[in-house]
Amino acid sequence: MNSTNTFLIRRSFDDVRRRIAEACARVGRAPGEVRLLPVSKTVATERLREAFAAGLTEFGENKIQEAHTKAEQLADLPLSWSIIGHLQTNKAKYAARIAREFQALDSLRLAAALERRLQIEGRGLDVLVQVNTSGEASKFGLAPDSVAAFMRELPAFSALRVRGLMTLAVFEPGTLRVRACFSALRILRDQLRDTAPPTVALDELSMGMSGDFEIAIEEGATVVRLGQALFGPRPLSGPV
Ligand SMILES: *Cc1c(COP(=O)(O)O)cnc(C)c1O
Repeated sequence: MNSTNTFLIRRSFDDVRRRIAEACARVGRAPGEVRLLPVSKTVATERLREAFAAGLTEFGENKIQEAHTKAEQLADLPLSWSIIGHLQTNKAKYAARIAREFQALDSLRLAAALERRLQIEGRGLDVLVQVNTSGEASKFGLAPDSVAAFMRELPAFSALRVRGLMTLAVFEPGTLRVRACFSALRILRDQLRDTAPPTVALDELSMGMSGDFEIAIEEGATVVRLGQALFGPRPLSGPV
């Protein structure tokens, strides 16, 4: 393990925390309302040990296979794993085994597969429902107008603890369309609160990545998912 790397990660972490606090201050929010989820996809296991030494204990991964491998290699550390990307039904067992949180729930078939596997493992899972607020065909997530009906089905899955919603904005840095995706998620959450079943909590809004997290915070994000702002740029040719 390299202590210089640990130092650098801690410095990025402090810097990001300061930017979170500044964004909160602009809109009169308390910094403690925003959770920073470090996204460790493509970051090597050894660097995650350095990140742990810098104080990071929670990691988000978008590919379940990569998350599973890292969770096994780092099983000696008290870490928790959040799956933030699309999950195929046939991989539900891996998520049920290692994840504390799943942020990309977007089908009842997947909810049923997770429920079955979680029952076998004797575990529960915090879940966020992914919403496609940009309307782009390339993005996963439910259409905003189908989320209310989807929510009504979720109490049937007792191992899934529904916490809120997640979205990805359009990738058009600096445009109003980015902000519109985030405000759409907040407005949808506020509307759903009136109709959601009592066991479905809608407190969390996971939105904002390295390029747009300050805007997301201004629009109400309670979780920001940050990879490159903490770990540096990802190789362009590698998986994203
Ligand atoms: C990769 C990823 C992030 C983090 O992106 P950065 O630009 O590295 O901050 C956030 N959310 C999801 C779903 C991702 O796949």
